[in-house]
Amino acid sequence: MDEDERGLEPGETGQVQSENNEAAGLENSDNFEAPPAKERDEIKSEIEGLQDEQEDAASSSVDEEVSSASISEGKGGKEYIKKQSKPVDLRKIMGVIGAIVFLIVVVQLIPCQHEWVPATCESPKTCKKCEATEGEPLGHDWQKATCEEPRTCKRCGEQKGKSLGHVCGDWAVEKEASCSEMGIEKGTCLRCGKEVTQTIEKLPHTEGEWVITRPVSVASDGALTPGTREMFCAVCGETISSETYTIEMTTSQKNAFRTALSYLDLMAFSYSGLIEQLEFEGYTTEDATFAVDNCGADWNEQAAEKAADYLDLMGFSRYGLIDQLMFEGFTYEQAVYGADAVGL
Ligand SMILES: [Zn+2]
Ligand SMILES: [Zn+2]
Ligand SMILES: [Zn+2]
Ligand SMILES: [Zn+2]
Repeated sequence: MDEDERGLEPGETGQVQSENNEAAGLENSDNFEAPPAKERDEIKSEIEGLQDEQEDAASSSVDEEVSSASISEGKGGKEYIKKQSKPVDLRKIMGVIGAIVFLIVVVQLIPCQHEWVPATCESPKTCKKCEATEGEPLGHDWQKATCEEPRTCKRCGEQKGKSLGHVCGDWAVEKEASCSEMGIEKGTCLRCGKEVTQTIEKLPHTEGEWVITRPVSVASDGALTPGTREMFCAVCGETISSETYTIEMTTSQKNAFRTALSYLDLMAFSYSGLIEQLEFEGYTTEDATFAVDNCGADWNEQAAEKAADYLDLMGFSRYGLIDQLMFEGFTYEQAVYGADAVGL
């Protein structure tokens, strides 16, 4: 094509021209007539197929070389392969171990979210979860011992030692102690000002006389069977002790005793009346007293019996009967007992 014919409009035609030139260049340089699109694709795939064949051939030849090399090396080659595989496994193991160590370190480095239990008298502030402590125990906050309480911790209530006890200067007796009941006394504590009541120990019993509860019995031949006697408290009447007893008798005592028993079989006597009767019979005062002391008579009952005897004989006023009984040697109390017993 002629450039001069087209050169009139350079703006538009320049582009067109260059396009034409390219097309022209292709056509001109190789004198190549472009095949239709279908044919081009076939050619292209043919070329690609060739290239693939070449690549396969090249790689297979390399494989053949390697396999032939390893076969030719025999045992040595296998060892070589084994040796090569070891460092790979070791690296994996080291990696796993490293990861574990790393995890442990990380876990340990995570700080405990402490849950504090407040400090007490004897233990410091302590974490419920990890048992970490902080600070010191508080120590007991002691309150001094009082009259009634020992030293006591204000915080936890622990107690140590003993209470002091009240201190009373003067005691006022509220109730006297006797041998049967404890007494009561009151005072005011000098330390705390409280009114304090305490008991007074019972008094000891007062020993009374022995009372024969079962007399020594004397047979008509003078043989003795021991009796029993009790001691009563002279104040409250409680039995203090009891025992069996017997007596040693001289011949004259034995005879005075037998005479006393036979008189008591006949009639009632007072204590002094029976002694007088035995003296009248010729016994000494000592033998007569011994015999009467051991005859076992109940002098109240003797008074009652005597009162009944008198009333059988004649009439008596109460006063007259008591007077008569006292004349017979009975005590006033025994005489009154006798008068009461016959209903006067
Ligand atoms: Zn903790
Ligand atoms: Zn405490
Ligand atoms: Zn006190
Ligand atoms: Zn008593």
